[in-house]
Amino acid sequence: MTLLKRLWSQQHSDVSELGLCGLRNIGNTCFMNSVIQCLSHTTELTRFLRTHHGSRSSATKDQLILFEFAKLIQEMWTSSVHTVTPMDLKRAFSAKHRMYSDYNQQDAQEFLRFFLDSLHSALNSGIKGETLNIDDNLSDNKKADLTWEWYTRHENSLVRDLFVGQLKSTLKCTTCGNTSVTFDPFWDLSVPLPSSSRCKLEACLDLFIREEILDGDEMPTCSKCKTRRKCTKSFTIQRFPKYLVIHLKRFSETRWSKLSNIVEFPTADRDLNMASYGANSNSNVHYSLYAISNHMGSTAGGHYTALCKHPVSRKWHEFNDNIVSDSVSENFLVSSSAYILFYERT
Ligand SMILES: [Zn+2]
Repeated sequence: MTLLKRLWSQQHSDVSELGLCGLRNIGNTCFMNSVIQCLSHTTELTRFLRTHHGSRSSATKDQLILFEFAKLIQEMWTSSVHTVTPMDLKRAFSAKHRMYSDYNQQDAQEFLRFFLDSLHSALNSGIKGETLNIDDNLSDNKKADLTWEWYTRHENSLVRDLFVGQLKSTLKCTTCGNTSVTFDPFWDLSVPLPSSSRCKLEACLDLFIREEILDGDEMPTCSKCKTRRKCTKSFTIQRFPKYLVIHLKRFSETRWSKLSNIVEFPTADRDLNMASYGANSNSNVHYSLYAISNHMGSTAGGHYTALCKHPVSRKWHEFNDNIVSDSVSENFLVSSSAYILFYERT
């Protein structure tokens, strides 16, 4: 091998080992470690954080979380570092979110929501105060665009750019047939699991968007009938996010029970096609899986790990707190532990 080639391959192998960094468990913090690994493999977020240099002085609680997270990501993507202790980040996060200040096991999806919200707030340059007035006679797509523009003027950050999509909900009166639509931002899709012990992800997504009947106490007021009517409600996706986070609702609201269904989700590149869930016909909505937050064991305790695809080597690795497994077979990705799926639009 020539010197040049050797240097190149050395450099190349280094790059594909960056980011393979374990996170020490500092007392039931596997939920946090699992989510951090998934976010660390979110290429555009990590690219930003690796060059982000905030400052501790006069920072808000959210900006401190961002500061510590960027510091952690920079360490995790340094060649000679193989394990990091996320103590400073834990401390910064608990200062803002008091329920995390002890060392109890927490829900990874809830943590992810709070965490992204803090990162967003730290970076948000949006302008508050302006109210949204939309002419009811406009087309749905025009309403959606105006609502989105209004939202993005209020909530303007890289984190929002990367993770937020727009959901369209349609309410239809069963008496007069009048429909009304609303558009809301979403940070993830929380999908229910069907009763079968094994299903495809599409079955969960179908349940999520499926028409639901609002009757009895839930009856909305129809704007045409001017009275409360039995209505149907359904969802479609108006705007797809760059990074789509799908939360499999394995836990009951009270967390007393956990479903251990096997959900077969697409794992190959561009394998998830979300086109049929779109509000508009768009045949090209392909996503590639790049990270999974796994929860194994029972509801009360249990343990979280992460499976992530390296952005350079394209190999899958398992991150179990401080232990990083070299490579994971693709057959290993789908399991009854899969809890949060991270997809990138490609
Ligand atoms: Zn009506």
